[in-house]
Amino acid sequence: MIFDIPKQLSHWSKNQILSDLRYMSKKIALLSEEVINRIAAGEVVENPASLLKELIENSLDAEARQITVWIEGGGEELIRIEDDGCGMGKEDARLSLERHATSKIRSDEDLQRLHTMGFRGEALAAIAAVSRLDLKTSEGGEGSWIQVDGGKIGETHLCVRNRGTTIEVRSLFFNVPARKKFLKLGKSKAVVQIVETIALANPEVAFTLFVDGKKVLELFPTERKKRIEEVMGQFPITVEEEGVWGLFSAPGEAKAQRREQILFVNKRPLFSPLVAKAVKMGYGTRIEESLYPPFVLFLSLPPEEIDVNVHPQKKEVRFSDERKIFRLVERVVSRSFETPTPFVTSLTFAPPAFHWESSEPISFPLEMRESKELGLQFEACPIAVMDGFLFVQTKEIYLVDLSLAFARVLYDSISGKKEEMQRLIWPFEWEAKDEELLEELSGLGMECRLIGKKKMAIDAIPARLDLADLPDFLELWMEKKRVDWVVCECVRKKKKNYSLEQAFLLWKELQNCQDLQYDPQGKKIWTVVDRGKLKKMVEE
Ligand code: ADP
Ligand code: MG
Repeated sequence: MIFDIPKQLSHWSKNQILSDLRYMSKKIALLSEEVINRIAAGEVVENPASLLKELIENSLDAEARQITVWIEGGGEELIRIEDDGCGMGKEDARLSLERHATSKIRSDEDLQRLHTMGFRGEALAAIAAVSRLDLKTSEGGEGSWIQVDGGKIGETHLCVRNRGTTIEVRSLFFNVPARKKFLKLGKSKAVVQIVETIALANPEVAFTLFVDGKKVLELFPTERKKRIEEVMGQFPITVEEEGVWGLFSAPGEAKAQRREQILFVNKRPLFSPLVAKAVKMGYGTRIEESLYPPFVLFLSLPPEEIDVNVHPQKKEVRFSDERKIFRLVERVVSRSFETPTPFVTSLTFAPPAFHWESSEPISFPLEMRESKELGLQFEACPIAVMDGFLFVQTKEIYLVDLSLAFARVLYDSISGKKEEMQRLIWPFEWEAKDEELLEELSGLGMECRLIGKKKMAIDAIPARLDLADLPDFLELWMEKKRVDWVVCECVRKKKKNYSLEQAFLLWKELQNCQDLQYDPQGKKIWTVVDRGKLKKMVEE
């Protein structure tokens, strides 16, 4: 493997590098590997929690059924992990401590597949480079015992151990003072969290955790939902679809922090702003802008569709098709709120007890414009959603075409204020380059720029344009550069399903539009239901 030092050195202290390099020039052959390992350690071992994560993952890879962890002094003094996995033979035990020694890659093809999961064969070597590590392992029968001191691998001794592996890490960063300074002494919260998080995805494995001699966690083998409830409490919403399994909190349970948003991709805990955003979008207006709904979400994807090595420590994941994942997650979450609404015949329908966008009573503070005609000064009450239509009652009963209503809302959002734009987490890249187009798009309420020779990046889009619809929207724009047509086509193509609540919120939004009677192409959005005619229909 080619080792690109300047890139890898990014978070290493400059003086450290200089002194190491100076030293290296005298004794290159002996020191380069050690220096490299210490540098790599900066990537893999950020803190005791990230270190422990690597070790637990190794135990899981070894198919352990019982994993016990001891932490002392926040992990800086001691991290010990014991498993009953497959263990290692004498040769392998030694090899495992050498950089790029891995049993998980055998061929190029494996590498392609596994690289994406971060099987880089460097965790153990990296950890051993910055601590005093003690490894005891056995495949059953005679075991091996090796001690490593700041990267110097000692002799292999015989030892007695049942099948499995014990790894003890002491004096973390004792030889890297610059890093040691940044360790927060005695903080074991992050360590407990990492054990809990990994335990969520591996309910068939028993976990026990001791912190400073006290047992703080004991989990017995069980099934996934039970394990999650044991660790995190109850979740009211369960979602299960092909490739997606998740538990979600009620909208009212949303928190100010994202800490309880847990994502696993192929059973590995990862971080993805994209998925978090998609979940949020799925909740729609049920939660406030500044809050985050707790969830535990499992995505199963073909390994070639993900890349987790964007950021070595944070394990941020990128998807090869971001839009697909975004749409998928948003859809399953929003669908979980849609209970099929039967046509409710009673006209004295009490507002259901779900969580409204705000706690204000459901009525429209109306400007006088057209209000008399609509009868909106009366309390409005949604009755039913059926096949893309909303029945809403004020003084009269209105029948509203939701697609047309949305087209109006979207159209107004495009000509809306700049503050109401939605910023994209990642710019949307589009294979088109044209100064003129750039101007057109900003006219459509987008913020965009040219990147490279052939591409354009869109950083913000109108508030009511669904990110998932952006590609269609752009294509339609290229076909016919007329906003009214593009908006109406885009909405028509989409055919959204609305829950009663969503439909009603849309109707509320419509009340603030420039023209609340007609869609951008002049079609009537709603009509008053003629009770006389209804009566006749029944009598016929
Ligand atoms: P990687 O996990 O990327 O292969 P590591 O440095 O974490 O790299 O581990 C190197 C090798 O050591 C692994 O491929 C595995 O063969 C072996 N190993 C590490 N930990 C264990 C364990 N707990 N039980 C059995 N084998 C292990
Ligand atoms: Mg590993």
